[in-house]
Amino acid sequence: MNAIDSPSKKRILVTGGAGFLGSHLCTRLLADGNHVICLDNFYTGSPDNIRSLVRTPAFEVIDHDVTSPIDLQVDEIYNLACPASPIHYQRAPLQTLKTCFMGAMNMLELAQATGAKILQASTSEVYGDPHVHPQPETYWGHVNPIGVRSCYDEGKRAAETLFFDYHRQFGVRIKVARIFNTYGPNMRPDDGRVVSNFIVQALRGEGLTIYGDGTQTRSFCYVDDLIEGFIRLMASDDTVTGPINLGTPAEFTMRELAELTTSLIGSTGGILHLPLPADDPTQRKPDISRAREVLGWQPTVALEAGLARTIEYFRGVV
Ligand code: NAD
Ligand code: UDP
Repeated sequence: MNAIDSPSKKRILVTGGAGFLGSHLCTRLLADGNHVICLDNFYTGSPDNIRSLVRTPAFEVIDHDVTSPIDLQVDEIYNLACPASPIHYQRAPLQTLKTCFMGAMNMLELAQATGAKILQASTSEVYGDPHVHPQPETYWGHVNPIGVRSCYDEGKRAAETLFFDYHRQFGVRIKVARIFNTYGPNMRPDDGRVVSNFIVQALRGEGLTIYGDGTQTRSFCYVDDLIEGFIRLMASDDTVTGPINLGTPAEFTMRELAELTTSLIGSTGGILHLPLPADDPTQRKPDISRAREVLGWQPTVALEAGLARTIEYFRGVV
């Protein structure tokens, strides 16, 4: 324990803490008065994301890969370590699969050994290219097990299985959040996901790269809303295991997103049509009834407002 920690202060491990979501989560947990251990191998994470936190005495950084076990004393674990952007998780598919499975298993072992509560950053990708719309947690999904997205989709599905088996077999206190497309400051300019791509391209006066005809849909959640959902889920009583959808039930086509981004930035670079990647889901929108009922949670930031904040961030970095 750090010398200045009070006994009531929680020691919280955030794997993937230098990434986009992880850095916001570390910031929030520190602001709430906790001791935060950020564990990351910096595969997609950046020291810049946590630069403002490293002088805080209650903040520790461990350069470590979750595929190897680690021994720490912690009260809570948020397991976020895993590249989330298709271009990055497909760059090293075996490492992605290993991170999903071995990372989850190592963190569950740690939770079992310490008695810590553990939250898994799962994903709407467990629903694959869904035939049920919007997607409730009861839907088992429509996932290609051998495609280019499978290292991530099936890895995250296997991680959920591990979570529930550690819960059933060993009584580990689990929380599984299924996150739908989330965006905001601290995404890398070369992250490759659609919101950051469009903003960076528009700010540079380049064409916005729409994959396919742009009629595919996604529902975008602003990062602050998502972090609030994480905190509420972790604080919920032990009977609440999830899975629980966290996302915004407002659905947009990629064409609509391109138009909104262009109008907010006032860019003139136009549109560049590129081929649709394999197995790209055609539609996605969360049913968040369970999150509303169990956590009293729902998103509060509309897409236009969240995009405006994200654009302000990217003006400072590109
Ligand atoms: P990100 O790529 O910005 O962050 C992932 C972090 O994990 C990075 O800091 C990276 O360096 C680290 N990491 C990767 N492999 C690791 C390993 N083997 N050991 C240690 N650290 C490792 O992505 P993000 O958007 O912040 O996503 C965080 C988590 O949330 C991921 O698990 C992702 O699957 C999940 N998620 C995110 C979204 C979203 O829209 N942002 C949606 C669904 C699920
Ligand atoms: N997309 C796009 N242009 C881009 C990046 C992505 O049209 O520059 C599309 C992509 O094909 C997908 C949607 O935007 O249909 C969301 O892609 P992203 O990689 O952000 O997330 P995911 O596919 O994992 O939901």
